[in-house]
Amino acid sequence: MLVLGIETSCDETGIALYHTKRGLLSHALYSQTEMHGEYGGVVPELASRDHIRRVLPLIRQVLAAASLDLRDIDAIAYTRGPGLAGALLVGASIAAALGFALKIPVLGIHHLEGHLLSPLLSTPAPDFPFVALLVSGGHTQLMEVSGLGQYTLLGETVDDAAGEAFDKTAKLLGLGYPGGPALSKLADEFSSSNQQKRFKLPRPMLHSGDLNFSFSGLKTAVLTLTNKHEMTEQARGGIALAFQEAVVDVLTGKSLAALAKTGLTQLVVAGGVGANRQLRRNLCRDAEKIGATVFFPELEFCTDNGAMIAFAGAMRLQSPGIRDQKPDDTFAIKARWDLEIQGMSPEA
Ligand code: ATP
Ligand code: MG
Ligand code: FE
Repeated sequence: MLVLGIETSCDETGIALYHTKRGLLSHALYSQTEMHGEYGGVVPELASRDHIRRVLPLIRQVLAAASLDLRDIDAIAYTRGPGLAGALLVGASIAAALGFALKIPVLGIHHLEGHLLSPLLSTPAPDFPFVALLVSGGHTQLMEVSGLGQYTLLGETVDDAAGEAFDKTAKLLGLGYPGGPALSKLADEFSSSNQQKRFKLPRPMLHSGDLNFSFSGLKTAVLTLTNKHEMTEQARGGIALAFQEAVVDVLTGKSLAALAKTGLTQLVVAGGVGANRQLRRNLCRDAEKIGATVFFPELEFCTDNGAMIAFAGAMRLQSPGIRDQKPDDTFAIKARWDLEIQGMSPEA
């Protein structure tokens, strides 16, 4: 079965072709970050308009790359939510129109389910059940994943998401938008330069006894530092490293606590912050000590992409009996949508 995946929830147009037997055949991504960078954040109306410009050419591109034709597609999976309403509507309406014209099923996918399942695109892939650490621009959650569509929230951020904290802190350090990758690069450079660590930041909620997170205080602590110290290149590097270490320590500590709590031995990391090298290193190091294994998506599938949507669609279409498997011909979107079990039905 050949599934076309369409992702348009935010500022990335992602298109992919996934074949249930042959795997990922081709994928393409257009990122709008440069356009939004000028405004310091995503402008929803500009995002929707740009998705309209990109979706069809990208579909043609992935089909050509796989030497396939529109008529070879057996089903379409698009991101139903959560995300920006206008941006979601672009993907949903194109999916519905194509599905109608080609007389094939159209399936609305939860964006976070896409992120969550993205490590399954790699080999070796984890088996159910596992714990998932979902660290993206809009979410920071620990989930117990018992099977496809069976997600139990173990804990989440009470304020900013980890990616959001990276981006806001990067802005404070003058690193532009989106600053997460730039901040991480600065931190890694400072770390390998062997300079003295001058700054230490708190580990919010690390010992709170639950699996929740809080990152907005860290950003305020960084603001205090930038006001107090002269922002030399060295000071910025030192603060970037102190910030990254604090976030990584909390994410690592809570992930291990989630493994202990559930008794599971597989940890899956998904979402943009999953690209962070220090996070990857520390998680692997600490998981190994307790005999657990960590799985990451390929770097290019950490942030938004079409492959994870095509893949989640393929998994759903192949799993009879799960609640959301009924293909739909409406282009309903859900700008806000919880991932937990009760949230998996489009009617929920
Ligand atoms: P959501 O999926 O919650 O709707 P999103 O789709 O915007 O949010 P992603 O695309 O998964 O989020 O991830 C983007 C986030 O990842 C940004 O906040 C970005 O700064 C962060 N990020 C990307 N690379 C890195 C890195 N190497 N280190 C830290 N953060 C990173
Ligand atoms: Mg993005
Ligand atoms: Fe995302």
